[in-house]
Amino acid sequence: MAHPVILSIDDDPAVSRAVARDIRRRYGDRYRVVRAGSGPEALDTLREIKLRGEQVAVLVADYRMPEMNGIEFLEAAMDLFPAARRVLLTAYADTGAAIDAINLVDLDHYLLKPWHPPEEKLYPVVDALLEAWTASPEAATTEIRVVGHRWSAPSFAVRDFLARNLVPYRWLLADEPEGGRLLAAAGASAADVPVVVTTDGKALVAPTETELAGIVGLNVVPAADFYDLVVVGGGPAGLGAAVYGASEGLRTVLVERRATGGQAGQSSRIENYLGFPDGVSGAQLTDRARRQALKFGAELLTTREVVGLAEAGSARLLRFDDGSTLAAHAVVLATGVSYRMLDAPGLADLTGRGVFYGSAATEAPSCVDQDVYIVGGANSAGQAAVYFSRYAARVHVLIRGADLTASMSSYLIDQLDRIDRITVHPHTEVVAGAGEGHLQCLTLRDTRTGQRRDVDASWLFVFIGAEPRTEWLAGVVARDERGYVVTGPDLVAGGSRPPGWSLPRDPYHLESSLPGVFAAGDVRAASVKRVASAVGEGAMAVSLVHRYLEAQ
Ligand SMILES: Cc1cc2nc3c(=O)[nH]c(=O)nc-3n(C[C@H](O)[C@H](O)[C@H](O)COP(=O)(O)OP(=O)(O)OC[C@H]3O[C@@H](n4cnc5c(N)ncnc54)[C@H](O)[C@@H]3O)c2cc1C
Repeated sequence: MAHPVILSIDDDPAVSRAVARDIRRRYGDRYRVVRAGSGPEALDTLREIKLRGEQVAVLVADYRMPEMNGIEFLEAAMDLFPAARRVLLTAYADTGAAIDAINLVDLDHYLLKPWHPPEEKLYPVVDALLEAWTASPEAATTEIRVVGHRWSAPSFAVRDFLARNLVPYRWLLADEPEGGRLLAAAGASAADVPVVVTTDGKALVAPTETELAGIVGLNVVPAADFYDLVVVGGGPAGLGAAVYGASEGLRTVLVERRATGGQAGQSSRIENYLGFPDGVSGAQLTDRARRQALKFGAELLTTREVVGLAEAGSARLLRFDDGSTLAAHAVVLATGVSYRMLDAPGLADLTGRGVFYGSAATEAPSCVDQDVYIVGGANSAGQAAVYFSRYAARVHVLIRGADLTASMSSYLIDQLDRIDRITVHPHTEVVAGAGEGHLQCLTLRDTRTGQRRDVDASWLFVFIGAEPRTEWLAGVVARDERGYVVTGPDLVAGGSRPPGWSLPRDPYHLESSLPGVFAAGDVRAASVKRVASAVGEGAMAVSLVHRYLEAQ
């Protein structure tokens, strides 16, 4: 297959040559670097590339060009290659226009000219964009192939798992010729899907997540049975704890039941995290954090669920779902929260077959030119609406309240207002779903009048808040009435230390009612539900672990 394209557009031939030269020098062995002198010429080139069935990974457009400026070009290019990452080259005077473009064309980055030295200013940007593009479902340059049915929940689960772990793959429908050929070659039939064909040609029929993790090179077995620190949960709080723990010399293992990134990994664009003025996708942010943790020597286990915690003298013992155990001096609980299910007749059976919890970005390309329904009025729902509007004919955001002001950040409300394809339906709730084999119809209810109406719908994405899944901690650490782990000063609010507390001091700030077990991020009672605070608490928990270990 031809290499994917990096396209650069500049009307100044000298600049155009220089950009292409710098890009080719670093990426020329893996990408085809193509140049164009104007927006219209570049669009013609993109149409040809599309017809040839090739891919475009990154578009680098100069802002000031006659005929069509860079923003206009990127907007038109999105119709042809919506997944291509977009960079605008600007002069300092045009920074305002570049910032506006972040919303208008969902710009990934703007680069101030000159971009020298490229090692500092150009390559880190392009590296990050290529990384994100490679992990997108549209990047068909990969070799792991998944054959399945569009409306099969297990097929969705495999794709979702691979996407969340940033493993590139190619998706083939079982009833299409190429999918049928692969199934036949694997000795499987359409009834066996999902079938995963690995890069070395091995076929796995309906693999478990642990099997999948193994074949894509994710670690599933701990290297030791005793650590200084076990971190449970691989979202921002857990990754933060793993980075700080390992970098400060603690033997650290992080245990994640599904895919590192947690909720943040599902966010299409986090705009309020410090240091990323252009926003950053959750996948990019967590992938970097994961690599950072590994660099410092943390061990990361994926697809391993912790189901029990016990005190064993001065050690803390964690039990996995297969009965095996892991011991440590200290534990950081960073298990976050999970989406609450929408309780309406018919929906449970259709989960993964048209009804999805969270943004399920893998489904976006299948929603092209169709109507998408999103339930929820918080930022996560707003981000999903913006993301799906790039693919869907219309995105309907259903909220119970009168408007979004109480639940969504104003920058997102403004974005939604500006996108014609998005309609917000106030005072509306989903009361039923139905369909043969997959979602086909939703029943909506007006919360003021009680009036019901049916709409044809194949895609429903639900974002209705979340709850901690901490039942396994019952009787071991104190939790509040909603299941959040109570820590620090809240444990001694009544003037006495928690029952069973054995030390002659109060619990440290993030410490639970079991000494040496700390909680960080969304799972902690009264925590701020944000990426930055989760990362901060992960780091802070590690400094308290040091204090705890010194006193042991
Ligand atoms: C779609 C979306 C968009 C968002 N956008 C923003 C935003 O723009 N800005 C912002 O600041 N915040 C945003 N948030 C909120 C932010 O993502 C969360 O506050 C943050 O991820 C919390 O981090 P955490 O590590 O505490 O928990 P989580 O991210 O929930 O991670 C917890 C992890 O623990 C794992 N786990 C749970 N139980 C176990 C177990 N028993 N064993 C092993 N592993 C376990 C889970 O699989 C999960 O990976 C968004 C959330 C969502 C869902």
